[in-house]
Amino acid sequence: MDFKFSEEQRKFRQEVGDFLEEELRQGSFEPSCDAWIMGHSPEFTRKVAQRGWIGLTWPKEYGGQGRSYIDRLILAEEMLRYGAPAACHWFADRQIGGSIIAFGTEEQKRELLPKIRSGQAYVGLGMSEPEAGSDLASLQTRAIEDGDDYIIDGQKVWTSGGSHMNWIYLLARTDPEAPKHRGISEFIVDVSLPGITVRPIVDITGGVHFNEVFFDSVRVPKKYLIGERNRGWPQVLNQLDYERSGMERLMANYPLFEALIQYTKQTKRNGKPLSEEPVIRSKLAQLKIELEIGRLHMYRVAQVMDEGRAPNWESAMSKAYGTAFEQRLASTAIEILGLYGQLSPESKWVPLQGMASHSYLSSKGYSLQAGTSEILKNILALRKLGLPSQ
Ligand SMILES: Cc1cc2nc3c(=O)[nH]c(=O)nc-3n(C[C@H](O)[C@H](O)[C@H](O)COP(=O)(O)OP(=O)(O)OC[C@H]3O[C@@H](n4cnc5c(N)ncnc54)[C@H](O)[C@@H]3O)c2cc1C
Repeated sequence: MDFKFSEEQRKFRQEVGDFLEEELRQGSFEPSCDAWIMGHSPEFTRKVAQRGWIGLTWPKEYGGQGRSYIDRLILAEEMLRYGAPAACHWFADRQIGGSIIAFGTEEQKRELLPKIRSGQAYVGLGMSEPEAGSDLASLQTRAIEDGDDYIIDGQKVWTSGGSHMNWIYLLARTDPEAPKHRGISEFIVDVSLPGITVRPIVDITGGVHFNEVFFDSVRVPKKYLIGERNRGWPQVLNQLDYERSGMERLMANYPLFEALIQYTKQTKRNGKPLSEEPVIRSKLAQLKIELEIGRLHMYRVAQVMDEGRAPNWESAMSKAYGTAFEQRLASTAIEILGLYGQLSPESKWVPLQGMASHSYLSSKGYSLQAGTSEILKNILALRKLGLPSQ
């Protein structure tokens, strides 16, 4: 096992860091927590696209660079370290582009991949429904064949980035008579089609990053079915492995961690810098240990992908670990900042621009989104430990 990055990879990290430093210097963004999922900046996404950093791992014939998943992880890690607003392209780059390459038609590849790569297609994920979360195969949204189209009726919920997306990946039931895992298909749908209504949901932080999406007799041309009809279940399972796999499951709050360390150096309590308090030093050091273990998990997952395997139990393990780390980071920040840490970003007395209270509230959802920690542990129990399925 070799833990070293190659010279080329070190240079690439430097190149990404230089780009982000320059963007910061120009004031194009303010570092923030959760910026990979909540920071929507079409302008920033366009600049990332111009560098060829969307679809980095895709084959060259589809406009990608054919680079490794380790390279992509380096890019993601730097974006998260800087709290850069990458939400417009994150989902499409992470999983939908890859799904289209794996299962889509040549026509879909020629139409959609250039839109994603150039930073013009912002894709939302239409999986969950009011009665289908962990048990996703219970979904009820229907797609009924009618001539050259499917007619879609139903509702999705918790669709992240729904107010910004112009495409939605959709999981719908194409055979209501089949056993529930065998009658599901995948689609990619233009959100401007008549009959689609997007309604924002206010989240626990007071923000509106996720949405309900309603489909009322939406006519979707058949050419937007991804892969085989009624084979959507194995396809989406493969996609979920990629959804769970990334550094955003560990470093979404990295700007808070950095700011917290600086805060303890600069803030005195009872005449002494907080950074000299043994309990605080120990808590921060503990977080650093956990962060580095988390990074090893994430790089292992990328290595699995570079071997050409979909990471299954590996991404379940890394996501369960990473999101629990982020929850501990947020709790530690609140403990160190005391009651001030609970203030909202608008408050005059709030420290660290309110990142601690935002992360504390937001991190509750991390162990739900993309598969709850209980479900991930079930996957580990089954696929790694060989325990019986339930
Ligand atoms: C911030 C955020 C963003 C999201 N973004 C999206 C998005 O973009 N697109 C999308 O489609 N969805 C999205 N989701 C939805 C997410 O995928 C679901 O919340 C998740 O799958 C859980 O489903 P549920 O909320 O219906 O909870 P439920 O499935 O009802 O689960 C409730 C509780 O029961 C537990 N549980 C359920 N089944 C089992 C079991 N078999 N064994 C043990 N415990 C179990 C769960 O772990 C959980 O604690 C998002 C959610 C959040 C919080």
